[in-house]
Amino acid sequence: MEHNTYKLVIKGTVQGVGFRPFIFKLAKDFNLSGYVLNSGSGVEVVINCKKDCIDIFTEKIEQNKPPLSKIDSISVNQIDKQNFTNFTIKNSTNKSDLVANIPPDISICKECEAELFDPNNRRYLYPFITCTNCGVRYSIIYNLPYDRKNTSMKFFKMCKACKEEFTNPLNRRYHAQPIGCFECGPKLELYDNLGKILLNSTIKDIVELILQGNILAIKGVGGYHLICDATNKEAIDRLRERKRRPSKPFAVMVKDITTAKNIAHINKKEEELLSSKERPIVICKLKDNTLLAKQNISPNISKIGLFLPYTPLHILILNELNRPIVATSANLSDEPIATNFKTISKLSSIYDYLLDHNREIVNGCDDSVLMVVKDRVMTIRRARGYTPCEIELPFNLNTPTLALGANQKSTIAIGFANKAILSPHIGDLNSISSIEYYKKNIDNLTRIYNFKPKLVAFDLHPNYESTHYAKTLLAKSNSLKSKRVQHHFAHILGVMAEYKIDSKVLGVAFDGTGLGDDGKLWGGEFLECSYSGYKRVAHFKYFKLLGGERAIKEPRRVALSLLFEIYGKEAIGLDNSCVKSFTKKELNNLYKMWKKGLNAPLSSSVGRLFDAVASIVNICQIMSFEGESGMLLEELYSKEINKIYPYTIKNREIDILPMVKEIIKEPKKEVAVTAFFNTLVDIIATIYKDYNLPLILSGGVFQNKVLVELILNKLPNAILPKNLPPNDGGIALGEIVSLYQLQRDLL
Ligand SMILES: [Zn+2]
Ligand SMILES: [Zn+2]
Repeated sequence: MEHNTYKLVIKGTVQGVGFRPFIFKLAKDFNLSGYVLNSGSGVEVVINCKKDCIDIFTEKIEQNKPPLSKIDSISVNQIDKQNFTNFTIKNSTNKSDLVANIPPDISICKECEAELFDPNNRRYLYPFITCTNCGVRYSIIYNLPYDRKNTSMKFFKMCKACKEEFTNPLNRRYHAQPIGCFECGPKLELYDNLGKILLNSTIKDIVELILQGNILAIKGVGGYHLICDATNKEAIDRLRERKRRPSKPFAVMVKDITTAKNIAHINKKEEELLSSKERPIVICKLKDNTLLAKQNISPNISKIGLFLPYTPLHILILNELNRPIVATSANLSDEPIATNFKTISKLSSIYDYLLDHNREIVNGCDDSVLMVVKDRVMTIRRARGYTPCEIELPFNLNTPTLALGANQKSTIAIGFANKAILSPHIGDLNSISSIEYYKKNIDNLTRIYNFKPKLVAFDLHPNYESTHYAKTLLAKSNSLKSKRVQHHFAHILGVMAEYKIDSKVLGVAFDGTGLGDDGKLWGGEFLECSYSGYKRVAHFKYFKLLGGERAIKEPRRVALSLLFEIYGKEAIGLDNSCVKSFTKKELNNLYKMWKKGLNAPLSSSVGRLFDAVASIVNICQIMSFEGESGMLLEELYSKEINKIYPYTIKNREIDILPMVKEIIKEPKKEVAVTAFFNTLVDIIATIYKDYNLPLILSGGVFQNKVLVELILNKLPNAILPKNLPPNDGGIALGEIVSLYQLQRDLL
């Protein structure tokens, strides 16, 4: 039969994900000869076949590609005729320029799970069972190319049986770098909190410890969790006390989707996410009357983060335990997640036992957190399962850029050609160890991708740790260029990049605070944006944050400031819970502070307005965790109430004091809170109606599910970040794509 020779080049996430053996098998099925190899541009296939056959072959590649792969493009070209006797997998052409595209850490696959519970399988109950289609990747990589010798699996010498699987192209463990077994792979180690090893411990022993009410630290994929029985009130309270975390909700891991549905209201989209190969934490609405110690897990808040077990170890434990566990990142507040024996040992006063193992975590990575709003997925924390995936940009970057992000919920990004890679969630840069962890993330990402920045992009704020770091980089190099990007502009740019929008947009950036280019603390901004600059077309009228930083933790200080704006000193005599939460002396001092503007920076932050409302209706005077006031306000929302409060827009300034006056007078909390939500939506809709541009919403305030739902009811075409967090975790991507130094507001 007459044949031609074709060359296929497949680009995308196609290396280290079982692509070559997949092609090998496919070629065997088609009875074709030729070869496949990893090349600098992706995977290359040279194959002999008939013209009509090559189309079907290419179609099959797209249809049946390995689960962890992502195809960006397949090119097919006829080349000079060659002859082959069979089909082979060839060695990589040039290792040094392999396309750097690391697959993220993925949950255990169905085949491995079946083997895990098959008594006849040699990996029966092996807590680290894995294959080409599942398991750890990013968290174990030191360097590219992704070969075992460049991962923390290099310390485990494969036994004969594993080696055979690893080298057989028809085996589903062919070139699966992290494989091992009881004989040759990683092993569990159980310690007490004094660091004494408890020999011969089984999963049954571990489960017994949990049932007894103990708190365990367990090493997972990108770090340790602290876990306890989620039905045991005393254990949860003890965890709260030891972790110094009085009320922030804990995430809960459940055995399977059925258990998840018994605990929470879960729609189809949420079910898909919970069961996806990424297995993120999904924020769900709790049901009443479940076995969960609900009030201890999530005091006064009806939503919690749920997730399913994603490693064989978690599955073994949850299966044996048969009840949900609280599973929270092992850290103290403001500290990064513990990733090794040394850092976890510092938390020995929190846990009673430590379930460790001897596979090193090279790159720390928290659990990802997602939520579903009106069938749209929103990312709250982008980490395990999702990073470090490439984000394709709408244009080519002229200069390799390192973006350093913001100070809270920090992430960093590197950008080159038409690609950006965003680091996993790093955390708030409020402690020495979190800054160390931040630098480590920069080192890891730049090392793995062999990336050398020519430009560093960072925030306008002079006191962000990211800014300090940028300055040290700039001091070390004469050739490194710099670019400072306004915080809220970056929020909107990130979303533009995510959706590859290249027209002008109206961006609405509502968040806590970020430095504006007038030196004020912005956070309620309407920006007409393109990649090259922005114009601030409207913003919330400035108010004073009494005590600066302290006002961020104390909603009552923001509320009081607004009361001073309305009533002057008279406010001190008001019969309101905000006022009553202060002593007379404090009130007098705060009034002086307000009057003179001492330590009272001006802000337009909508995040702070949420705080003020929470204080006035007396549900939160001092916050115990960031975002608490917004979460509590959500609980009071009622869709039966349609009220909207008055406000004015003059000279681009939105004045909400008329609304605040109404809120003070309103006896019913539900009415005040619901009308506040409705008013915010009305403000956005009113300003937007003069624009014939795409509407983009970003900033931490848009993590509020009630607010986003209401906006989408009214403005169904509004664009929200999907794979990028709306909070400061999305800033780094925005910094990457800002083209020029910011333009001054034309105001
Ligand atoms: Zn597997
Ligand atoms: Zn083995």
